[in-house]
Amino acid sequence: MKRKILVAFCLVLLAVWPMPMSHPQAAPYFYDVGTTHRAKNEIYYLAEGEIVLGSVSGHFYPAKYVTRAEAAAIIGRTLNFDGGQRDTRFKDVGKGNFASGYIQEAAERNIINGYQDGTFRPDQFVTRGEMALLINRAYSLGGTTLSTAVQQLKIKGIAEGKADGTFGEDEPIIRADFAVFVARAINPQYRVNGQLTSTGQAVVNASALNVRRGPSTGYSAIGLLYKGQSVDVVHIVGNWAYVRASDLEGFVSRSYLVDAGVSQPDEGDALSNYVKTQTLIIDPGHGGSDPGAAANGLVEKNINLNVALKVKSLFENTGFNIALTRETDVFVPLSGRVSFAKEKGGNVFVSIHTNAGGGTGTETYYYSAAGTNPYVEQSKKLAQCIQKRLVEAWNAVDRGAKRGNLHVLRENNMPAVLVELGFIDRAEDAEKLGSSYWQEQAAKAIYLGILDYYASETGLDFQPLYDRVQ
Ligand SMILES: [Zn+2]
Repeated sequence: MKRKILVAFCLVLLAVWPMPMSHPQAAPYFYDVGTTHRAKNEIYYLAEGEIVLGSVSGHFYPAKYVTRAEAAAIIGRTLNFDGGQRDTRFKDVGKGNFASGYIQEAAERNIINGYQDGTFRPDQFVTRGEMALLINRAYSLGGTTLSTAVQQLKIKGIAEGKADGTFGEDEPIIRADFAVFVARAINPQYRVNGQLTSTGQAVVNASALNVRRGPSTGYSAIGLLYKGQSVDVVHIVGNWAYVRASDLEGFVSRSYLVDAGVSQPDEGDALSNYVKTQTLIIDPGHGGSDPGAAANGLVEKNINLNVALKVKSLFENTGFNIALTRETDVFVPLSGRVSFAKEKGGNVFVSIHTNAGGGTGTETYYYSAAGTNPYVEQSKKLAQCIQKRLVEAWNAVDRGAKRGNLHVLRENNMPAVLVELGFIDRAEDAEKLGSSYWQEQAAKAIYLGILDYYASETGLDFQPLYDRVQ
């Protein structure tokens, strides 16, 4: 915190920052889909929602042809079909086929047909023409014949023709191209000059509704909509709608939308009205000419800022107001941090630091002397809530929620805490401090700790906000 163990090669290290460490629980990575692969965005987008899967060895095999069974499974997953293996109507697809559940349901919904001899031919390759029809039927794009299906894909920016002017409808399609077409079909953001006109308006009919990156709860939440809020419905994927609100677009469950005009928009519910009144101040310690502690190839000011920015992105679009005392590598004096918090009308102040001095574990400080910051009980509660979540998230040694006479706590006039994530000069702690995966876990813990604090203070149901990070 206060110690400045500034090693001589500090500036050299700054030049190569950040250096996230890989982690087995991080987002999927395929060895054969690297940063320069033309379809990497679409493939990883589908992988995030477990719509496409890699092999046990970590390969995606982007150049392999797609079989009919694989196509049924991929499309079925985008529509949240129950993929449980079962008997099918086709004599060559038994319960043992990995895609039997998807094949049967896709057939029941007339998305994919079998052959007149009663077979499905699950291992046969899908042609580009079949893909066009499949996508049109799965997402109700309107094309019913090969030519109209291809035309719809072109109009909607989902597929382009080949360089020679044809569509190549008899050619088999490879996994990379199939992923691109499916990603574009489900998420208009991936389309090429696609038309993104609204198909109608709807109103949110849940107290709060998560907006997600993709059409399943497997996708991360990017924001919240509140009861009574109206949205433009752009596109439907199964039971999910791609909607656009004032400054937010993404997928919401259709179960919580009603047609505009049918429902009476609420006066607004308690949670939504409450969070709008709350301003969170996040204070990444040190910065600029003040690096904080440094050891193990890490510099405190960078860790603090990375975690603070991640906390900010978790709170974005939740309705809470959030402000950071710094968002870049600049020096801000302690008094400037406090005056910033007061000017913003902060309701909660969380300072993020990294410890040094040879210990290990996580601790969180609050100020408890009488006289200056009057929010003693609230600060203590906030410290306990955040400390508990951080210790759980990192499985860290619990050094406790403690009293501390620190400027940014003492001179403030709102519930205020200072977290010390871990010890930069302790190898086990430093491994987490320097890892973008563990920084994200710390940010989630701070997010959850703040929610725990608010839930206990207000008695409101913050479940929709908890759901964002589950
Ligand atoms: Zn510090």
